[in-house]
Amino acid sequence: MSMRVMEGLGVSGGVAIGRAVCVEDAGDEVLRFHLGRADIGPEIRRFEEARDAAFADLSKARVKMEQALGDDMASILEAQALLLNDKAFARRIVDRIRSRQVNAEWAVARTCNELEIRFAEIESEYLRERSEDLRNVSRYLLRSLQGIGHHELSEIEGNVVLVGKELAPSDALRFSRENVVGFALEVGGKATHTTIIARGLNLPMVVNLTGILELATDQDPVIIDGDEDRIILHPTPEVLALYEAKLGRLQSADEDVARQPGVQARTGDGVEIELLANLELVDEIDDAIRFGCCGVGLYRSEFFFIEKSPEIPTEEEHFALFSALLEGLHPRPVTVRTFDLGGRQLARELFPGEEENPVLGLRGIRLTRLHPEIMRSQLRALYRAAVKGDLRIMIPLVSTLEEVRFFKALCTEIVAELAAEGLAHDPDVRLGAMIEVPGAALLADHFAREVDFLSIGTNDLIQYSLAVDRNNEHVAELYQPTHPAVLRLLKSIVDGVAGTPCELSLCGEMASDPLLTPFLLGIGLRRLSMGPRSIPVISEKIGELQIEDLGPVTEACLALQTADEVRELLAGLPSPSGVTRA
Ligand code: PEP
Ligand code: MG
Repeated sequence: MSMRVMEGLGVSGGVAIGRAVCVEDAGDEVLRFHLGRADIGPEIRRFEEARDAAFADLSKARVKMEQALGDDMASILEAQALLLNDKAFARRIVDRIRSRQVNAEWAVARTCNELEIRFAEIESEYLRERSEDLRNVSRYLLRSLQGIGHHELSEIEGNVVLVGKELAPSDALRFSRENVVGFALEVGGKATHTTIIARGLNLPMVVNLTGILELATDQDPVIIDGDEDRIILHPTPEVLALYEAKLGRLQSADEDVARQPGVQARTGDGVEIELLANLELVDEIDDAIRFGCCGVGLYRSEFFFIEKSPEIPTEEEHFALFSALLEGLHPRPVTVRTFDLGGRQLARELFPGEEENPVLGLRGIRLTRLHPEIMRSQLRALYRAAVKGDLRIMIPLVSTLEEVRFFKALCTEIVAELAAEGLAHDPDVRLGAMIEVPGAALLADHFAREVDFLSIGTNDLIQYSLAVDRNNEHVAELYQPTHPAVLRLLKSIVDGVAGTPCELSLCGEMASDPLLTPFLLGIGLRRLSMGPRSIPVISEKIGELQIEDLGPVTEACLALQTADEVRELLAGLPSPSGVTRA
């Protein structure tokens, strides 16, 4: 095989070297595994066993349905049982296992998908409706296969580069616990939660690799270069050696950047800037400390729900998690965001229900208002864990003051409840809200008088102010952090909060882009929260700046008309050595 380079978009930096595993449909947890010749016979027998077990399950379900709903409804399952026992259907699956040397799960999923597409094209309404039967048969088969020698990624020896179409945040989390060292995907974006997880765990990720699933096969050697926006399939020995050397350099540079915990960044003229970490998992605590955070500015607590899904975490599980977080970071302050679920991404299965426009629907605090019982157990755990460190609690996606007041009233209730129960807790936890909606940004002065602190979530603020879905690759070019409207909105938030005792920080991805640091400090921000690995880079950038020079830069940016003009201006600023950025 000759070497092939594919250009994409590197959304999580660094280098990974490994062998490809092509994920057919990560969302359904169906992975494709390549089998050796000797494994094909046993795999076919595994499929046949699973088919018999699925048939037995379906027959039991049919009897139950008949008793509960009568014969008419039960006959639906009869049709599915017939399909499951159909010889031609089984032959297709067996042929696929044999000819492609793949695992039974993948052969089942792929065969059912293909048949479904064919059914959908047929004129007959009867056959089109059989698609549902097919999906159910596929589910029964996959479930039975899980019980019979399920394949896992960890079975594969060595480093795995996951090649797929797109990846849900929950899958990124699951796979990162295996031997996966990087991701090469057809679809993705810079500010999606999947990307944020990959960055948090320091796993290189390149997206927008159209057609990679057709080009790559399991076990292909792959290099991912997240810094140079490319992946390399079948690298030559020379290229491989170059990348092994680069990987070694990156790993030792990583060890060198460790700083003293809690050292504050300072501008050239002595203004202190607090650099905080954004975390999704307790596994990241060591990195946050190693890279010198002064505390945690954003702990995305919804990832715990994803880890536990489909179970909802209990109060005790939450308590253990928050205790570990506060103890691990002690004495640094930790801001926990109450769960930001909904809006299409993140454990949608917890709160089923169709929404035409989920990103504008039940998300963040809106969803928690509908499920106060879940919020209650999270809040009880937070107040109880608060005795172990310096905790702050923050709510996501507020758009009205009533939402903040609801949250504060709930907190007051929880404190009274814990006191009445005689449970140890800290009643004086500071409360805050995220500013992520343009409407809330324009009312920042009012919000600032309701809470102890506010944090600007630019990932969503950009999405909502420019009407650009942050997960949609078709409009990715319009997702512009330097759009002058976004900059003006940021300035108006800072101005609104100024003069109130409310603390203000910024915790979106903009905080980790050194190009934007002069603007953010120039409008008056003094607290920035970011992925731990960005802290040394931003700290160094801050050291190069003089606050007194930044007023004119800020004014100039705010007067410009386009995002590109702002980028050019910021990129052209002289660095202390007199060299301008490319
Ligand atoms: C944001 O929106 O900027 C933010 C920090 O929250 P998230 O990325 O989790 O939506
Ligand atoms: Mg957000």
